[in-house]
Amino acid sequence: MSSIKWQKRGLPHSHILVWLEEKLHPADVDPIISAEIPNPEEDSMLYNIIKKHMIHGPCGALNRKSPCMKDGKCTKRYPRELLQETQTGHDGYPLYRRRKAGDGGFTAKVTILGCNKVEIDNKWVVPYCPILSKIFNAHINVEYCNTVKSIKYICKYVNKGSDQAVFGLERQEMRRDEVSKYEIGRYICSSEATWRILDFPIHHRYPPVEHLYVHLENGQRVYFTEDNVRDRIAEPPRTTLTAFFDLCREDDFAKTLLYCDVPQYYRWDRSSKKWKRRIQGIHVEGHQESSHATLLVECTLSTQAHLNAVACAFSFT
Ligand SMILES: [Zn+2]
Repeated sequence: MSSIKWQKRGLPHSHILVWLEEKLHPADVDPIISAEIPNPEEDSMLYNIIKKHMIHGPCGALNRKSPCMKDGKCTKRYPRELLQETQTGHDGYPLYRRRKAGDGGFTAKVTILGCNKVEIDNKWVVPYCPILSKIFNAHINVEYCNTVKSIKYICKYVNKGSDQAVFGLERQEMRRDEVSKYEIGRYICSSEATWRILDFPIHHRYPPVEHLYVHLENGQRVYFTEDNVRDRIAEPPRTTLTAFFDLCREDDFAKTLLYCDVPQYYRWDRSSKKWKRRIQGIHVEGHQESSHATLLVECTLSTQAHLNAVACAFSFT
């Protein structure tokens, strides 16, 4: 699942939630998500990418003027605690391994405010995935999420729309006119406007979710007008549930399925209000016909598409 979001100024960025085919266990987190400066001798390419894109601030005592500072504190909670081992099991994101310099950790010299060079350690590293960072050479923050909170976070961006703004229009000579009108609108920055004009996607979700209706016999919702009320009474519209019963009457394979498993093998055709066999994808074990999709194959492609979207979002930088 992904959505693109904009800030007041600057470039779009994408929030992407990827479901892994195989569950990532806490012990497997370190090679996939790291919050450490890489060893410059072992992998100088990654070291330079991380140094350039994945160091927060520095803020706090090193730079009080950093934009993340509010009331003398970093709003992103940096610098983080150093930690010898990754810890999961908290409500929210895990605490990643951030080893001390000399104790497995490395340091890097970064420039603040255009001139001062400071040496920083793993306290300042934003969690990243080494392979993604190497492919895209961009700021890509990767987190391990096992709570529904993260999903909610993404959905919020899909649904809330652009920030609202109140603005006034006035002519030069009418300045300070108290009755000049103010308008309430949405703030759309130039990059968002361009994005929308070029018709780029702002939201992506895979797999598609089909809402399966559940109702008692003749209890489905029926919309009618004065003109078509008789037709509706004579032949009430089919729902996904009544169409499932129809399907079971003529399709032996469908009889072996539970209602909730039907969308995996059949797609809901909205115009004819019928379940139709899927015709793309690869053969599914145990099914008589070879024309059935597995979600797995398309899911992999979809992940690829997500990554392309990230590349797209970041290629302006
Ligand atoms: Zn900060």
